[in-house]
Amino acid sequence: MSLGWKWFTEYQTPYSAHMHGIREILHSRKTDYQQIDIVDSEEYGRMLLLDGKVQSTVRDEYFYHECLVHPAMLSHPKPTEVLILGGGEGGALREVLRHPSVRRAVMVDIDEGVVEASKKFMPELSMGAFEDSRAELVIGDGRKYVEGCREKFDVIIMDLTDPLEGGPGALLYTKEFYELAREAMSSRGIIVTQATSTYYSSYCFAAIHNTMLKVFKNFGGYHVWVPSYDSMWGFTYGALGRDPKRMSAAEVENELERREIKNLRYLDGRIYEKLFVLPKDLMKEVAECRRIATDEEPTFMPI
Ligand code: SAM
Repeated sequence: MSLGWKWFTEYQTPYSAHMHGIREILHSRKTDYQQIDIVDSEEYGRMLLLDGKVQSTVRDEYFYHECLVHPAMLSHPKPTEVLILGGGEGGALREVLRHPSVRRAVMVDIDEGVVEASKKFMPELSMGAFEDSRAELVIGDGRKYVEGCREKFDVIIMDLTDPLEGGPGALLYTKEFYELAREAMSSRGIIVTQATSTYYSSYCFAAIHNTMLKVFKNFGGYHVWVPSYDSMWGFTYGALGRDPKRMSAAEVENELERREIKNLRYLDGRIYEKLFVLPKDLMKEVAECRRIATDEEPTFMPI
């Protein structure tokens, strides 16, 4: 539906928002799980929105997907079995499959509607990843998949919607879930999750970080500026093996070279090291956080 030119407003909090000028609504559908919209925006090109929250845009999705995927993948010496929970548009899957050691990348998304709409209207995101012989797409709940799986994964990537109250992803940010995930990880396994804005929902980031540290001996957090999110975006991880923040710029460059991963658009060794440098106020909030997200009391984003 062509709008001439209209504004779409995304709220970071009830009192702060980011307005996007959009030319056209390309797809709009309510599934059993969420409202899916794909719009053509002036600034960012095509954008995937879920329940009114920007998920990925063609213009800047690689900031997020490269930073979500490669620290965990590079810090594992030879990731062969990888699990992605969520990741509907295929950007995380695309980045995982860049690593030649990967034999199998299982992607579990609860909503086939997101996968199908992304393939049709935003194929630049998956770039054929779904057709890669190593990719295995499962439509289902990520938590149930982990509860039922007997396999061991070297890397688990949680590319889920925010922990919104009543949202489909809330129970994948809890202590009980991370304990389940730890049982599905190999001896040097690592799990990484998107952990919301380190500005607008820093308390949520701190709670997810604090919850992970209760389950994993090596843990940490990092963040990157994502223009279309209008915020620094956080990630937290738990590692049974090497801690990604211990990798130097030179080691990252060597690993990228050794794995013949040449054309990343955002990340290199210099940027990698800076990801883990969190500002003092955020470090203080994380250090002082005592909140643990549980199934009984999950953590939620403000809206
Ligand atoms: N980059 C986005 C972010 O940081 O908010 C996430 C992108 S991706 C589109 C989020 C995906 O999580 C969606 O495709 C959604 O269907 C999926 N999802 C939400 N809850 C889920 C669950 N319980 N199990 C599996 N997938 C889930």
